[in-house]
Amino acid sequence: MHQDAERVLLTEEQVLARVRRLGEEISRDYAGKELLVVGILKGAVIFMADLVRCLTIPARLDFMALSSYGVSSRSSGVVRILKDLEQDITGLDVLVVEDIVDTGLTLNYLRENLCTRDPASLKVCTLLDKPERRKVAVAVDYNGFTIPDEFVVGYGLDYNGRYRNLRDILVLKREVYTRPAA
Ligand code: 5GP
Repeated sequence: MHQDAERVLLTEEQVLARVRRLGEEISRDYAGKELLVVGILKGAVIFMADLVRCLTIPARLDFMALSSYGVSSRSSGVVRILKDLEQDITGLDVLVVEDIVDTGLTLNYLRENLCTRDPASLKVCTLLDKPERRKVAVAVDYNGFTIPDEFVVGYGLDYNGRYRNLRDILVLKREVYTRPAA
């Protein structure tokens, strides 16, 4: 385990088994259709890479980047589009892939924004859900794991840009937050 981690919340094996099942469920639900999978950078990249390879339906990929967290571990509530989609989603079946839904502010903004572009359908798949910290009610169609209110890193999730490449999902030690940024 990484020295900055307090404990392993989910092992790589647990995550990959769940991702495989999510892929099967999504493939069943969209049978006969083509999906546009929209990954939210950067946290969802590793989850999305594994998830799309578990789909048995045709899929195209696009990405968006949103600002919600700066260098701190808590949401500012301000959402901005840093990178928009490359394609028009009018009439397409869109699946947004998120790393984690926490307060729900990011997803709420994203849903409203993408709905104005008239997709044929819009669903959301998140790897992790922290419902205890929700500030706005927001629909999540596919959820990998519901987790407690702890700050996690690994499998794409970062703190201050670090730990995304760790294979397991880990709870970060509190002292790591309070340490002055390097
Ligand atoms: P929300 O707008 O739902 O509060 O925040 C969603 C975003 O906050 C996620 O996409 C993620 O970037 C970040 N976030 C929320 N909780 C955590 C966490 O426990 N660990 C990490 N690394 N990021 C988190």
